[in-house]
Amino acid sequence: MKIGVLALQGDFDAHRRRLEELGAEVVLVRKPEQFDEIDGLVIPGGESSTFLKLLGDETFRKLSAFAHTKPTFGTCAGAIMLAKEVENPHQQGLNAIDITIRRNAYGRQIDSIIVEAATALGGDPLEMVFIRAPRIEKVGEGVEVLAQRGDDPVLVRKGTVMAATFHPELSADMRVHAEFLKLVKNGTKY
Ligand code: GLN
Repeated sequence: MKIGVLALQGDFDAHRRRLEELGAEVVLVRKPEQFDEIDGLVIPGGESSTFLKLLGDETFRKLSAFAHTKPTFGTCAGAIMLAKEVENPHQQGLNAIDITIRRNAYGRQIDSIIVEAATALGGDPLEMVFIRAPRIEKVGEGVEVLAQRGDDPVLVRKGTVMAATFHPELSADMRVHAEFLKLVKNGTKY
């Protein structure tokens, strides 16, 4: 199983390490043709507006086609990239998962925070590291909410797409990445 991590900017290396710990072969994706060699893709945190600037037309098209057809997991800025609607300010989303997401929505004073909450993944509460996080304001039909921060969905999944507004790669807990690898292995059957 080859997993690509989009490596244009942001904390892609922490994802690489985590995926390798879980036994996946990882490809750091920087060029459009690399999308053809991978079975799943992680879009890391970083700055979503910068991702949009750095992606050339061809890489953007490849990324979009991939996210619409193959297992893709976006964290924080990556979740913003995958969204249907992006607010604050409005920017282009790939529309790979039916969520409306608001950038930098938790305010400056608490712009980084660690929260523990129950998760539908089972087991102990999940540690969730939020860094200038976006908030999922609306989820469309059929979008499964796997974890919440208060009333806000923070880990969602539909079909082959997963999105987290926090940074699972910064916690020791491997369950979120393991869940994504399961998705890559089984397609939509989980
Ligand atoms: N604030 C960033 C954005 O709007 C996301 C922050 C992150 O990925 N940690 O794109």
